[in-house]
Amino acid sequence: MTVETINPATGKIEYTLELMDAAAIEAILAASASAFPQWSARPLPERGDLLRKVGAQLRIRRDDIQKIMTAEMGKLRKEALAEIDKCADACDYYAEHAAVYLEDQPIATEASSSYVRFEPIGCVLAVMPWNFPIWQVFRFLAPALMAGNVAVLKHASNVPRCADVIAEALRDAGIPPGVFAALHIDNDQAADVLRDKRVAAVTLTGSERAGRSIAANAGDQLKKCVMELGGSDAFVVLEDADLDKTVAGAVASRFGNAGQTCIAAKRFIVVEGIADAFVQRFVEAAARLELGDPQDEATTLAPMARQDLRDELHKQVQASIARGAKPLLGCEPSASYAGYPASILDAVVPGMPAYEEELFGPVASILRVADEAEAVRVANDTTFGLGGSVWTGDRERGNRVARQLQCGAAFVNAVVKSDARLPFGGTKRSGFGRELAEHGIHEFMNIKSVYVA
Ligand code: NAP
Repeated sequence: MTVETINPATGKIEYTLELMDAAAIEAILAASASAFPQWSARPLPERGDLLRKVGAQLRIRRDDIQKIMTAEMGKLRKEALAEIDKCADACDYYAEHAAVYLEDQPIATEASSSYVRFEPIGCVLAVMPWNFPIWQVFRFLAPALMAGNVAVLKHASNVPRCADVIAEALRDAGIPPGVFAALHIDNDQAADVLRDKRVAAVTLTGSERAGRSIAANAGDQLKKCVMELGGSDAFVVLEDADLDKTVAGAVASRFGNAGQTCIAAKRFIVVEGIADAFVQRFVEAAARLELGDPQDEATTLAPMARQDLRDELHKQVQASIARGAKPLLGCEPSASYAGYPASILDAVVPGMPAYEEELFGPVASILRVADEAEAVRVANDTTFGLGGSVWTGDRERGNRVARQLQCGAAFVNAVVKSDARLPFGGTKRSGFGRELAEHGIHEFMNIKSVYVA
């Protein structure tokens, strides 16, 4: 089958490719199975040196990779460059820290020696989304390779060249054949790959819909899975917040990456004492964002990644307005192919898509509440639990509120972000399992107890 990718800034066909057939998939799985014993037996410092070389390759190819990201999913040039640098840094981070994370852990028992040992489990299938087409992959891949696992990637169908440049960077860094491969396959073929006995586990970053399907398949096969799914993060503004910092954080968190970030602030929960002032400043700042050519340095708002996603977002906006939400800014698709302007909806209440669902694009929802207690209740009144932030002049108060948020990452006076030093993942329907830090590297390992009487 032939697949086409469309440049979201121009609407032009960017690239066509043939999906792999059964023989090509078989060759990749066979190579992966034969690479695993040698790769996992390789001393950790050698794996670390190779991973550092992968980071170096990303830095060398930075400009080329950026152009591919921008052409395939519309990312702003400066956002793409920052993403590539973050991946290279993550390679260095895991090269440096994996030895500590993977050390045997002595446990005091009555035995002469007892300890926990971390062993790799084999080939992990990664099913990844287009929104951070390089970072989502490295967030999984850097720890997986240091752990001694091997991996195959099924990337989102609109970013096939991003998948290929990752594979090329690994190859040119000297990662042996079979340790990593990009599979150009559809979702049914991916389901077959997960059923293959040479594949030990799966990690998905994507939507709830994909999560249900892949987790069901993994459950059926009794294979370990990690699910990094959607979010509708609360951005809680308390009456003592510093408005300059808070508005800057709100704009960066909601409109960066054209709003297509799982941990973007999506629900702005604002207490009455500051609501009017915050909303006025937020609208003014968001109105200054310039939607345009993502390759142009002057552009500050990227197009959305696909026209169908833009149209889906607009339906959610229209349905929210029909139920009483007030459009304060934007809320009409741009004339450009997949563009949607910075948009703000006020008076968002239960029953509206803007309250109940994830809006995966540049639309902010304002939810007005009476006080801190109501802010916490509304922040937790969601099926999602990925991230959340609290904005206040009082750190202690912020800390107290952050501890009450039902989510995988709560930040005070800072935009929620992923960081190789901190575990990343969700609760509720945002998924389960963790990536990054020590917790992430242990997800796809056999945590083995050794007891010598
Ligand atoms: P998506 O449609 O679920 O796609 C993600 C990946 O899953 C793609 O490779 C896609 O392949 C594949 N896929 C889709 N349906 C599948 C199925 N039924 N079986 C097997 N694979 C399937 O998600 P998206 O639109 O690319 O990404 C947006 C979603 O991802 C948002 O909800 C966002 O919040 C979430 N996300 C979460 C995190 C996190 O860390 N928690 C990070 C980023 C994004 P095709 O492209 O070929 O369909």
